[in-house]
Amino acid sequence: MTEQFDHFIGGRWTKPAEGRYFDSVNPATLDVLYSAARGTQNDVDKAIDAASDAFRNPSWRDLSQTKRGHLLRRLADLIGENAETLARSESLDNGKLLREMRGQMAGLPEYLYYYAGLSDKIQGDQIPASSPAILNYTTREPLGVVGAITPWNSPLTLTVSKLAPALAAGNTIVVKPSEHTSAAILRLAELASEAGFPDGVVNVVTGYGAEAGAALADHPGIAKISFTGSTQTGAAIASSAASRFIGCTLELGGKSPNIVFDDANVSNAAMGVIAGVFAAAGQTCIAGSRVFAHKAVYDELLERVKERAESIVIGNPVDDDTELGPLAFEAQRDKVKDYVKVGVDEGADVLTGGRRPDVDLPGYFYSPTVLTGVSNSMRVAQEEIFGPVAAIMPFETEDELVGLANDTQYGLAAGVWTNNLSRAHRVASRLEAGTIWVNTYRAMSPMSPREGFKSSGMGVEHGVEAIKEYTRVKSVWINTDEGPVADPFVMRG
Ligand code: NAD
Repeated sequence: MTEQFDHFIGGRWTKPAEGRYFDSVNPATLDVLYSAARGTQNDVDKAIDAASDAFRNPSWRDLSQTKRGHLLRRLADLIGENAETLARSESLDNGKLLREMRGQMAGLPEYLYYYAGLSDKIQGDQIPASSPAILNYTTREPLGVVGAITPWNSPLTLTVSKLAPALAAGNTIVVKPSEHTSAAILRLAELASEAGFPDGVVNVVTGYGAEAGAALADHPGIAKISFTGSTQTGAAIASSAASRFIGCTLELGGKSPNIVFDDANVSNAAMGVIAGVFAAAGQTCIAGSRVFAHKAVYDELLERVKERAESIVIGNPVDDDTELGPLAFEAQRDKVKDYVKVGVDEGADVLTGGRRPDVDLPGYFYSPTVLTGVSNSMRVAQEEIFGPVAAIMPFETEDELVGLANDTQYGLAAGVWTNNLSRAHRVASRLEAGTIWVNTYRAMSPMSPREGFKSSGMGVEHGVEAIKEYTRVKSVWINTDEGPVADPFVMRG
C-alpha cells in the first residue's frame, strides 16, 4: 500500500477538500513513492485562514524577536538531526544525487541559524526632524501571510530561503511545493511544529500549479508572494500580485554564460564547465549552459569537457559512485530531447551525448551533451533547457564576449575563468547578471544576497537584504509639544 500524505494546515494533517491524491514517482526506477493530497481552492482557503489566525494570535504576534530566533535555531537543529532522511527523500523524489542532497542538508541549518541571528536585529530608525518637539521614528513590521511557491530541483533549500527570513520577520507562511517533491516539504512543516512554532505559522498545501499554486498566488488573504520557478509562471504570478498591489519576490530561470579566457587555467575551467551544466543533470537555475571559450583555448577546452563528459558515471542517484542521475520527470526528459533536436535542426553539431545512455534502469536518463557550431542567436543558446546540455561557442575579444554574454533575456549568474585580476573585476562589472563567479561556479551561501537581473527575477533572496522583502516600514510622528496649536494650516514636521 502506497504511503499517503495529507496537507499540513494549522498544525495538523488535513485531508484534501475534494478527497483526491496524486502519485509521486521515483524518476530513476519509475516506482511510485507515495501519494500526496491534490490541493484546490478550498484547501488553500483553509490554509490561509489558519495562517491569518496564527498571525494575529498572541502566541506568535507577541512572541519576542529573540524567541522567534530560538524557534528557528530549534528547527535548524531538527533539520540537522533528520538530515539523512530528508536528503534521501529529496533524492528519491527528484533524482538528484544523494551525495549532493546530503551536502545541501548539511548546509541547510546554516540558513536558519543565519536568520535566527537576524531576527532580533530587525528594527526601525530614529529619523532626524526639523523641530526639536518632533520625534519621528520608523518600525519594521511583518507583512502578514506569505505565500511561497517552490520548484522541485532543490526543494528544501529553496523553500527555507523563503521561510527563514519570512518567519524571522514575524510573518506566517503557506507553502505550495512542487507537485514532484511534496514529501520533504511536508516533513519540514512537521519539524517546524516539533520545534515549537505555534499552529498555523507554517502550513503546506500540496498539489498542482494550475490548481493549488494559482489558488495561493491569487488569494486575497496573502500579503506577499515569494516564488521560485520558471520565468513563464513567474510572469503570471507577478501580474496577479501587481493587480492587488502586493509585493512579490521572484527567482526565475536562467541561461548563464560560463566564460573561459585564454589566460585561464583551462583544466580547472573545464571542471567548472562540467560542474556548471552537468552537475544536478543541468537542472539548476544557475546552469552554465552557454559556454564561451576564447578561440586560443577553444579546442583544448572542448577536448577536456568531452573527455570528462564521456566518463561521467550515470546511474541510480542514491548510489555513492553515481555522478549523474535521471531528469526529474518524463516531460522534463522530453523537453531536453526536443531541444537537442531543435539545435541540430538549427545547424548545431552534437559533439557528445544527445541520446539515452546505457543505464540498466527504466528512468528518465539523458547523456551529458555538448553542442558545437552554435551561434548565440539560436534557440538552444537563448532558451532555458534545464538539462545536461552545454552549447560551447568561441569568441575573440573581450568586448565581443561581453556583448554575446549579455545578449540574452536572462541575467541570473555568470562564470568567468581568468588569471588576470584586472580582467576579472572589469568583466564582472560589465556582465548583466546578479551573481558572478570568478574561477569557481555554483557557490552559494545564506549570507550572500542574490538577485536575478532582467527576466531572471525580481527582489533579493539571502543575506540581510532578504529581511526587507518580508517587512514593511511604518513612520511614526510624535509631537512632544503640548502647547496650543498656533496655526492649524501649517502643522509642525
Ligand atoms: P514551474 O514554474 O513549472 O513550477 C514552479 C512552482 O510553481 C511549482 O510549485 C508549480 O506547481 C507552481 N506553478 C506552476 N504553474 C503555476 C501557476 N499557474 N500558478 C501558480 N503556481 C504555479 O518551474 P519548475 O519546473 O518547478 O522549476 C524549474 C524552473 O525554476 C526553472 O526555470 C529554473 O530556472 C527555475 N528556478 C529558479 C531558481 C532561482 O533561484 N532563480 C532556483 C531554482 C529553479
